[in-house]
Amino acid sequence: MTRLIGVIVAGVLCLPIASIAQEPVVTLRADVVIDGTGNTLRNTNIVVRGTKIQSIGQTTAQGPVYDLRGLAVMPGWIDTHAHISGHFDRKTGRLPEEGSETPQQTMLYTAGNAYRTLLAGFTTVQSPGAEIDKDLRDWIADRIIPGPRILTSLRAITDKTGTPEQVRAFVRKAAADGADVIKLFATSSIRDGGGQTMSDAQIQAACSEAHARGKRAMVHAQGPEGAKAAILAGCTSIEHGNRLTDEVLDLMAQRQVYFDPNFGLLLHNYLENKAKFIGRGNYNEQGFKFMEEGIPIGIDTFKRALKRKIPIVFGTDAVAGANGRNYEEFVYRVRDGGQPPMDAILAATSTAARSLALDKTIGTIAPGFEADIIATDGNPLQDITAVRRVVFVMKGGTVYKNVAGAQKSGTRSSSGDR
Ligand SMILES: [Zn+2]
Repeated sequence: MTRLIGVIVAGVLCLPIASIAQEPVVTLRADVVIDGTGNTLRNTNIVVRGTKIQSIGQTTAQGPVYDLRGLAVMPGWIDTHAHISGHFDRKTGRLPEEGSETPQQTMLYTAGNAYRTLLAGFTTVQSPGAEIDKDLRDWIADRIIPGPRILTSLRAITDKTGTPEQVRAFVRKAAADGADVIKLFATSSIRDGGGQTMSDAQIQAACSEAHARGKRAMVHAQGPEGAKAAILAGCTSIEHGNRLTDEVLDLMAQRQVYFDPNFGLLLHNYLENKAKFIGRGNYNEQGFKFMEEGIPIGIDTFKRALKRKIPIVFGTDAVAGANGRNYEEFVYRVRDGGQPPMDAILAATSTAARSLALDKTIGTIAPGFEADIIATDGNPLQDITAVRRVVFVMKGGTVYKNVAGAQKSGTRSSSGDR
């Protein structure tokens, strides 16, 4: 057995030269490419070799051709904040009661969400986070199951985590256990008012220890006090920020802290699905009242944020009922928030990638980037609801969805369709 493994390893080591030659090459022919950096390219061929984009331009097509003309082609979207395991019970249709399902069932729901989210056009999702995310992330990365690239915090720090030293120990443990990012709750939930819960010293401990471990720190902060403390502590991003003041927004602009407003889908999803949530935890009448009141407040905050040079990213805070339709966030941002469609797309592509420290890898259609490429039927720059019609999804060079309009020509079958 050992010898056999030795042979296989030697074989693998010999592979690079051979595999470059054998890597499948396909070409995506497009007449509209929103490249993720703010440019729209016309009449281009995107040549994909293996998992990466090899070239883009008016070059000769290589390999089989996917004809995406008539569609809007863009980088796979990045949701910087989605709880990918969130689901309703398949029998009751309601949020599951604690302990009402087996871990296997929870994982099946989660794998289902991952698949739906990928088909919806999201090729990367940051989940802040559940322990279940780790296996999901690794199984998807190994291409055993289909889903978006996952980044996860695995768990989250709260005011109950302990002294600043205990908070630091928590961060070290999470990093050692494989967390990609550190998540902390600097304030309470919007359903509980959103006031600051963690002390300034706890917040500083969390974010400075995260940075010392080479990790980013994403901070749940509804009200301005918790957000301000997080910004001053050098944390990476403010999540929610439902009722941030001008002072805090100015501070974010000054320090270029990412703002992840989870603008529309979150609260609307809760309200639309109220009957499925109510009666569990803080999903009570008072909590729903806070959420309803939070909608106009969030719109006002978002509009004030847009006036400043704050890097805004595209987190939806998708939970049960929202996973798989994360794209609705685009519609809310443009329609209710007044954000220009191109800026909304930038938030979900190159800006999101930068916030994840993946801006050399994803979020842009350019040579050397991962071939995470999607296409919508209709141009979202003209009609934002086109985001609901993702008809083509390629992730890492593999095509996961190809319906309506995208015809492949050519004879080879090595294009990685599945
Ligand atoms: Zn969340």
